[in-house]
Parts: sequence; structure tokens; C-alpha cells
Amino acid sequence: MKKIYLILTLCLSYGFVVGQTKEPVRKDPVRTDPVVENIVKEATENSQLEKLAHELMDVIGPRLVGSPQMQQAHEWAVAKYKGWNITAKNEKWGEWRGWERGVSHIDMIAPRVKSLEGMQLAWSPGTGGKTVTGDVMILPDVADSAAFQKWLPSAKGKFILISMNQPTGRPDYNWQEFATKESFEKMKKERDGQTDAWANRMKKTGYTARTLPVALEKAGAAGVVMSYWSKGFGANKIFGAYTKTVPTVDISLEDYGLLYRLTESGHTPKISVRADAKETGVSQTFNTVGEIKGTEKPNEYVILSAHFDSWDGGSGATDNGTGTLVMMEAMRILKKVYPNPKRTILVGHWGSEEQGLNGSRAFVEDHPEIVQNIQAVFNQDNGTGRVVNLSGQGFLNSYEYLTRWLSKVPEPIRTPIETRFPGAPGAGGSDFASFVAAGAPAFSLSSLNWSYGTYTWHTNRDTYDKIVFDDVRSNAILAAIMAYQASEDPAKTSREKSILPIDAKGAPGAWPEPRKPTRRGGMD
Ligand SMILES: [Zn+2]
Repeated sequence: MKKIYLILTLCLSYGFVVGQTKEPVRKDPVRTDPVVENIVKEATENSQLEKLAHELMDVIGPRLVGSPQMQQAHEWAVAKYKGWNITAKNEKWGEWRGWERGVSHIDMIAPRVKSLEGMQLAWSPGTGGKTVTGDVMILPDVADSAAFQKWLPSAKGKFILISMNQPTGRPDYNWQEFATKESFEKMKKERDGQTDAWANRMKKTGYTARTLPVALEKAGAAGVVMSYWSKGFGANKIFGAYTKTVPTVDISLEDYGLLYRLTESGHTPKISVRADAKETGVSQTFNTVGEIKGTEKPNEYVILSAHFDSWDGGSGATDNGTGTLVMMEAMRILKKVYPNPKRTILVGHWGSEEQGLNGSRAFVEDHPEIVQNIQAVFNQDNGTGRVVNLSGQGFLNSYEYLTRWLSKVPEPIRTPIETRFPGAPGAGGSDFASFVAAGAPAFSLSSLNWSYGTYTWHTNRDTYDKIVFDDVRSNAILAAIMAYQASEDPAKTSREKSILPIDAKGAPGAWPEPRKPTRRGGMD
């Protein structure tokens, strides 16, 4: 890369000197703005990203709604902002079931010994300080729900496997690269058949994915064992448990397959499970909101936005540790190089996005005076990658201001960003949608995917090592410059909505409606 740059630079200089000596020297617009220049300089020469990432992802860890770690993260963020002389507070918006993850330890102890890679799901009941041992059984293929009721008592004391055994632990891209076309096609066809058959097996029990674990624990099962493969090497998605008294554990594809095959071949594997989990009562849920007060128009707002909570199979590094880092670093830089913005710059670190944008919906509901006076919201929440997409979210005139602001962004960061205007209003996906629904110009800084969906999104592999710091640095520069530009703009942004295309049913497209947050969650 370096060599190419050098040659390019040489060519350009040469052309400039020889061919264009009479042209006026064109200055990069970026270099003519000292604030932009200082943003880039601070982000590059004094980056705090690695340190922040370590403190948040490694020391505090994942940030499941209602967990003590979520609370620690809120306190940590406020302290960080305080250290940068930025006013910040934790705003309560609701309550959630409190639960703290403890040890998960799963071993196969017969027919041979092997420690298994797996963990209890979020909110799983523990094993009461004991290690529970039992035989493994596969969910049976019964004729109908009556037959399943007849079978249920045999689940007593057993660990029941309720996921399909994947025929391959190799991702499709690996097959694509190495398999013959015929064997790849054959594998996919067989897998499709197995997937249908497993769905049918589940259906015939008379239960759903949600109610089956509860039926099994009522029948006295020792625990529920599943494997939610994320279609990449070593990656499983870890969501929440439905059981109330016995643990639900997720086991890696490799170890799940091992148990499954041994059960099928009649070797009756035995596993022992130790799961520690603490119910911590009703916990309060918060948004962390930081502020750099505006000097000319303090009642107009630019909001940097990223959800703060995560699932807890990994440490929430790319969902949404990286979005969090982008906005924290952008705020830190702005306070240092642009301490007296025209408009007020807020940062919102929302709680419980993962359960339905709850923190940001609550903020929108609780602060109509802010929402009415939003100049722009910039949200980032799809991984560690540099931003490559920006949609106008259906706002008719977003083209005018967003492209003007973008023109101030250094070329290497700006050029890869594909814009879409006016675009369509996002109805969900992340917290910008809470603002869009309220008619406020809110935008998603959308990232290059870095295999986000397969490897890190809600997986056990969403950890510090997946962060691509150079990309996150670019995004912090982008967010800071866009906030600076939105703050400085002489005009208030237009909120005019575009006429939406006819929908699939032939009706005129409708703007998404604001939705109520869940203010009391996880408690039955
Ligand atoms: Zn997210």
C-alpha cells in the first residue's frame, strides 16, 4: 500500500509541476478549517480508543440490561465524561429483572471425559451452587403432541438436546472455496431437508421454541441443551433462556455434534453442568446522557447516539462497544477542540436497545422539548467497520445539509460513503429509528460489515480482538465533524418528509409511528 501511495503522490506532484503550473493551488477544503484539522489531529495523535475499549469490554464486560455490569458501565461513562469536563448523568427510564451471570462449566463425563465449550443463556436459572449430572437425550421424533405428552416423563433427570445437529461446522464460504460444486450442492440440499425435518419434529411436540423448554423443565428435565450456530467457525449466538428453574445452556457446534452423535449411536453420554446465576431483584435502567452546552442556540440539539447495552455471550465489543467508543471519543475530541458549539451537542448512550430500542424510545417520550429542536442525530450500531453508507431516512431535504456537512470530512473517510437520498425512514434496527418515528432528522452511520452478522452480532465471539481500531478512529473523526458541522449550520435542518413509495399491498407508504418503550421488562 505504502508503495502505491508513494508512486501516486509522485505522479500527482509531477503532473502538478509540469502540466498545471498556471492553475491556482487548490487547497483541500478540510485543511482550511482549523476545527476539522484539530479533530483529525486529536483523533490520530491522542486517541483514547484502545484504553476505553479495554476498560469497557475487558474490565467491565458485557452489558446485559438489568445486570450489575450494565450499571457499572453507566457509572464508568459518567466518570469518563467528568474527567473530560463534560457534564453527564444517568437518566432513569425504567426497571428490569436483575440477573447476574456466574460460572458456566459443562463437562462430558461419559463415555469419556471432555470439557465442553458452552455457557448458560442470559437469564438462565443456575444449578443452585451444585454440579448437576445427567444423561443426554435427543428430543424425540414423535407422531403428534399426544405422543409427546406420553414421552415427557422420560425427560426426568435428563439433559435434553433441542437443536438440530448441523451436518457441517464449516461455513458456506469455506465449502464454496474448497468443495466440488456437486458435493457443496448435495450438502446444502441435505441440510435443507434436515432443517425442515427438525422444524417438523419441534412442531409435532405441540410446543414452540419458547414453550418447549418450559414443558421439559416441568417434566423434571435436568436442563435444556441447545446450539445456535451462527454459521461461522466457532461462533454461536447467545440469547435469553425461557426456563424458570433449570439451566438452559448453549454448546458449541463441535461439542453439541459430539454429544448428539454419541447419543444416536447408543453411547449415552453423561454431562455435568455447573451454572451459577444470581437473581438480583428489580434493577433500574438508565440512559447515560452527556452534554456540551451550545452558546448561540443552546435549545437546539445535535445528538451523538449509540446504544450502550449488549447481549452477554461475548463482551459486546462490536455490538455496540464500537458505536459507544465512536461517540465517546467524538465527544472528548469536540470538548477539546470545539468547546463552545453554537448548538448544544448531546451524547446518548441508550439502555436496552436489544429488547426493542427501549432507552431511546423512552428518551424521545420523556424529552419532547429536545426532540422538537433536534438539528440532527447520528447513530452508529452495526459493527466495527468504517462507515460506508448514509441514508437520508426519507427526509426530503436531507440531501442538501448532509452532503454539505460531509464535504468537510477528509477525502479518505468521505469518499467510500455511499449516500442515498431521500432514502426511506428506518422503522427499527437501532436507536435512530426512535427519533425518525418522531419526525426528527436522525441518521445511521452504517458500517462496512467485517462479517458482523456471522461472527460477532450477538455471538460468543463479540470480543475486544474483533475491534478494528483504525476504522473506529475514522468513524470518531466522521462523527465529530458531522456534529461540528450540524452545530455550526446557519439554518435549522428541514424536517420535510418525502412522499413514500406505494407499499407491497398497494397502499401509500406510511411514516413509522413512534412506539412506546417497555419500561418494566423481564418480569412475568
Ligand atoms: Zn446493536
